[in-house]
Amino acid sequence: MGQFHCDRCQKSLLVTENVRYKVTIQVESAYDPLELTKNDIEQKNHQDVLQAILKSIEGRSAEELEAEIYKSFKFDLCLACQREYIRNPLGLSSPEYSQDSQNLKETGDGPTAPQDHP
Ligand SMILES: [Zn+2]
Repeated sequence: MGQFHCDRCQKSLLVTENVRYKVTIQVESAYDPLELTKNDIEQKNHQDVLQAILKSIEGRSAEELEAEIYKSFKFDLCLACQREYIRNPLGLSSPEYSQDSQNLKETGDGPTAPQDHP
């Protein structure tokens, strides 16, 4: 293990920062795309089911199929980037998110239009 760099701003960590943050993102399919229900087996004939599965994965790489079911990312972040990241983990570009998103979380009402005029 050598030097750590912030994966967002490339700043060298531990040298200039006394804290670093590890971000682990796990994207999992909420269902198994290849799962067969009892109904599938009872109502369709097996050949049809197999054909459907084969057709759905046809022409796709193993990597692609795997990514559809499970994908994980690991990043190291400096303090500044950690603060930025937790404000907008999905990288949304709407103005509500690029500004302080605290208000959204507190109200729980979702995005609301600014009402500055009387
Ligand atoms: Zn950084």
